[in-house]
Amino acid sequence: MDIKNKDLFRQQSFINGEWVDAINSKTINVNNPATQEIIGNVPNCGKDETISAIRSAKNSWKDWSSKTSKERSNILKKWFNLIEENQEDLARIMTIEQGKPITESRGEITYGASFVEWFAEEGKRVYGDTIPDVFQDRRILVIKQPVGVVAAITPWNFPSSMITRKCAPALAVGCPVVIKPASQTPFSALALGVLAEKAGFPKGTINIITGSAKEIGEELSTNPIVRKLSFTGSTEVGKILLRQCSSTVKKVSMELGGHAPFIAFEDADIDEAVEGAFLSKFRNTGQTCVCSNRLFIHEKIHDEFVEKFTIKVRNMKVGNGLEEGVISGPLIDQFSFRKVEEHVHDAVNVGAKIAIGGKKHKLGGTFYEPTVLFNVTNKARITYEETFGPVAPIYKFNNEDEVINMANDSPYGLASYFYSRDIGKIWRVAEALEYGMVGVNTGIMSKAEAPFGGIKESGLGREGSKYGLDDFLEVKYINIAGI
Ligand code: NAP
Repeated sequence: MDIKNKDLFRQQSFINGEWVDAINSKTINVNNPATQEIIGNVPNCGKDETISAIRSAKNSWKDWSSKTSKERSNILKKWFNLIEENQEDLARIMTIEQGKPITESRGEITYGASFVEWFAEEGKRVYGDTIPDVFQDRRILVIKQPVGVVAAITPWNFPSSMITRKCAPALAVGCPVVIKPASQTPFSALALGVLAEKAGFPKGTINIITGSAKEIGEELSTNPIVRKLSFTGSTEVGKILLRQCSSTVKKVSMELGGHAPFIAFEDADIDEAVEGAFLSKFRNTGQTCVCSNRLFIHEKIHDEFVEKFTIKVRNMKVGNGLEEGVISGPLIDQFSFRKVEEHVHDAVNVGAKIAIGGKKHKLGGTFYEPTVLFNVTNKARITYEETFGPVAPIYKFNNEDEVINMANDSPYGLASYFYSRDIGKIWRVAEALEYGMVGVNTGIMSKAEAPFGGIKESGLGREGSKYGLDDFLEVKYINIAGI
């Protein structure tokens, strides 16, 4: 691993303050999706290691939760500073294991660190309530307390920030964590563990366990010591975890799949809409849960939009994310590649036209040409399924009601975007879209200060912002009588 701070590259799990191998010494290889080279391996842990990680979190719980919020905040701030200081190395690790362009990886490290900084402060503001009682000699108090041991399961598409977005609020309010990162991108998670250890988190407050998703996931979601499971990943796995968590009635947060609509109305600034659509579609090679996956363009501006958007896509450099100037990297694996291919073939078979792209990229491997489709109909699979790749399907519409119905015709409800300059329409459409997040005249809206999350089958709960603390707190009501 070509990085300055070699210490950041760890190939062991982190349990109870120790760097450890799997009990059976088995490992999982990790490859670079741009070159297919093996870059290292991590322990293939299972049930037993998960139980010891959960126990170590439980043992640290009393001390960690009884520290003052300022004491916890100081350690979080050290972690934040260390992440910022090591930004370049962390970004390189991410690009090598995940494939995203280095500029995006740098951005993700900054974005991930911003949750640590934000919650280091926000954790000091866990306010309670006093409520007037109906009896004169009684008082009602409401306090909020940390939920207990938290399990966090995270995906490969944001290998660093999905960890900090969950762990920073949990740790800030006093919960120890057991993290299971995606097997395709464990090194970004382990590097965060190295920096957490250096920042001074007590032994057992942060555990990172790599290995069998099924075994680790089953233990994390059924063990009664774990009081809260926070998951980011596919809706399919989210539903399995929800079922498993029901056996011990855990608190759950689910950040699941998306299928974002992007609407450009006839009064939109076309150049800005093209820019917003481009950013929201092609970031991370189309592999984000908030990527727009259906572009609805008003018939009056449709042709101009398609032309300008296609020119922008044509100028995009595809390649290994470590090369400066690259905007689109490889897809994470062959499975994802095949899904993208299938979505394009299927759309074309039912009438879509290709404006650009539409096939495997000449670089081979899992590189796919950035693709724009138009004339797409609701017969195409892409209209209903998350593609997770660099394919932009464009649909024509002619009125507000029609496009809102089309946009809401999805089991998902995560992000949505639209462009308009009409203030009345902006209010109407923002309220009518059945999505947890609405970007108006912007294609990018994730930030630590705002509540990120979805409705319908896109999830439960919110991450980031003042709302991001709620999922790690229990409300306790105290009634004092005989005053
Ligand atoms: P995934 O297959 O659901 O995997 C996510 C995590 O779950 C990985 O750590 C994976 O481990 C683990 N996992 C897989 N099967 C499991 C099981 N049976 N029990 C417990 N854990 C299990 O999703 P992905 O392909 O990594 O990520 C892409 C998906 O995440 C997309 O649908 C995307 O929309 C969604 N996403 C949502 C958000 C959001 O905030 N809403 C953000 C980012 C991504 P292994 O890697 O070891 O298999």
